[in-house]
Amino acid sequence: MPAMPPVIPQSILTCPLCGHVAEETMPLDACQWFYECKGCRQLLTPKPGDCCVFCSYGSVPCPPIQARGQDGCCGSKARQGADQ
Ligand SMILES: [Zn+2]
Repeated sequence: MPAMPPVIPQSILTCPLCGHVAEETMPLDACQWFYECKGCRQLLTPKPGDCCVFCSYGSVPCPPIQARGQDGCCGSKARQGADQ
C-alpha cells in the first residue's frame, strides 16, 4: 500500500509587513485564506497564485499540497479554470 508522506501541520508564518514570526497550526483539510498578524494586526491574504496564507508566508506548504502536491489544494483547480 502507498505510504502517505508525513504532513507537517505546523508552519512558521512570517509577516511580510512587520516581520513578526509566529508558529501556527494549519487546518489539515482546508486552506486558510486570511490570517491576522499577531504583530501588526494586519489581515494577510495570499499572494497571487498561492492558495493560502501558509503557502505564501509559511515555512512549509499547506497540508493538502504536502499530501497531494501542487494540484492537491482546493485553490489549484479554481485558478486553472477547468478539469481535464
Ligand atoms: Zn505583521
